[in-house]
Amino acid sequence: MPGSPAPHLRGATNLDARIRDLVARQRTYFESGATFPLHFREQQLATLSQALRKHERQLLDALHDDLRKNETEAYTTEIGFLHAEIRHTLRHVAKWMRPHNAFSPLVIAPSRGALHYQPLGTNLILAAWNYPLQLSLAPLIGAIAAGNVAVVKPSELAPATSSAIAELVSNAFAEEYVACVEGDVVTSQTLLAQAWDHIFFTGSTQVGRIVARAAADQLARCTLELGGKSPAIVMPSADLDVAARRIVWGKFTNAGQTCVAPDYMLIHESIHDTMIERMVAAIRRMYGSDPRQSPDLGRIVNDRHFSRLLSLIDRDKVVFGGDHDASDRYISPTLLAGVDMTDKIMADEIFGPILPIMRFSSLKDAISIVGQRPHPLALYLFTRDSDDEASVIERVSFGGGCINNTLVHLGDPNLPFGGVGPSGLGAYHGKFSFETFSHRKGVVKTANFLDPDVKYPPYNASKLGVVRKLLG
Ligand code: NAD
Repeated sequence: MPGSPAPHLRGATNLDARIRDLVARQRTYFESGATFPLHFREQQLATLSQALRKHERQLLDALHDDLRKNETEAYTTEIGFLHAEIRHTLRHVAKWMRPHNAFSPLVIAPSRGALHYQPLGTNLILAAWNYPLQLSLAPLIGAIAAGNVAVVKPSELAPATSSAIAELVSNAFAEEYVACVEGDVVTSQTLLAQAWDHIFFTGSTQVGRIVARAAADQLARCTLELGGKSPAIVMPSADLDVAARRIVWGKFTNAGQTCVAPDYMLIHESIHDTMIERMVAAIRRMYGSDPRQSPDLGRIVNDRHFSRLLSLIDRDKVVFGGDHDASDRYISPTLLAGVDMTDKIMADEIFGPILPIMRFSSLKDAISIVGQRPHPLALYLFTRDSDDEASVIERVSFGGGCINNTLVHLGDPNLPFGGVGPSGLGAYHGKFSFETFSHRKGVVKTANFLDPDVKYPPYNASKLGVVRKLLG
């Protein structure tokens, strides 16, 4: 599809009128049916992939400017992630789009049910700043695959990436199909006030409530990808060296500003001190003796979050790290031990490179500690005991997670990614994105050769007898 320039709406005088006009044009375009055919969807996904390659340098620079993301990390978690998602979607979208036959019961014979996937229509995608590219465009892949039109609003807190995304989108797509609208909270609010068929939001639980209310006002479908405090539990049977490396990697990637980063750790008391030693060793191996000099450690997104994070560090509980430099928004990988549930750091999601550690004496205790908090977005259990694994998976409600690893469940397109309760509503990635951006329409087709009289009035006892037999 030829790219015509997307509107540069930031600072526009009549924001509401311009956004309203954009959404109306997108609706008209959607209603033309142009986005429905398989080959159109495939073409647009290929266009997105080419645009990502064309803009790769600019995107990597922008991610470095906003969050000082190392190139390998930025490629793995943002650009490469999107290529993998596009490739997976291109491989499967034809199959996903096919209607699925469903078994129809005898009571409605001679009929056959089928499930058809219908594009939802107009979609608003509101993204968070921590993976500013991936969180803007991964939902878009699902929206395109499912045959929709969409407006993407990247986060204003990652401004360089936001403007790089706007340029990429306007080069790749006509605005009546896919548009990028940049701006701050007022822009988000203006967007939320429009009539959408679906709002896909990634961000905090607090703003998630605002988004859910806006969706309720117009009875739009709403997907909420939120956050929360995700625990990492380490059992005595775990391979401690491997666990230490994987937890340190999961926690300090993007300087801890990852929605599914281990937020706090529960270590069995019998291995508590050893595990902390292994983690310190792992931090030193990954980031050197002075992590500030490491090109692989990101920085805190802005001064507000920097001050918020510093206020969470209880000096008396620091067992490693705790260094910081406001001029660079640098906070070193920090471990706090002897933390309890009443400490300030256990109140809300940390979203930074500070890892509080608590000890527990039995898996039952650990499960009960996790249960005192709202359902987390992720949970990580380190154990070699399959009974531990089964207990945690069965007893604890969490969005998704890993056994003996962190973060990597996100990279499996065959698994849904999403929260539960306050950590989110709905899920995406791979086929789950396609389903999230589709309406599942059930249609029954009935043959004409037989039209049993039993369902038609006038009713009598023998008809009731047949119905009782069929329905039970
Ligand atoms: P945020 O909720 O502050 O902002 C997200 C988006 O909402 C931005 O585009 C912003 O413009 C908009 N927004 C902010 N305030 C608004 C308001 N009052 N009204 C309308 N719109 C508003 O979130 P954030 O700080 O960008 O991201 C951090 C949070 O996101 C963390 O809680 C993190 O766990 C969560 N997160 C979740 C996922 C996930 O996939 N589940 C991924 C990344 C981040």
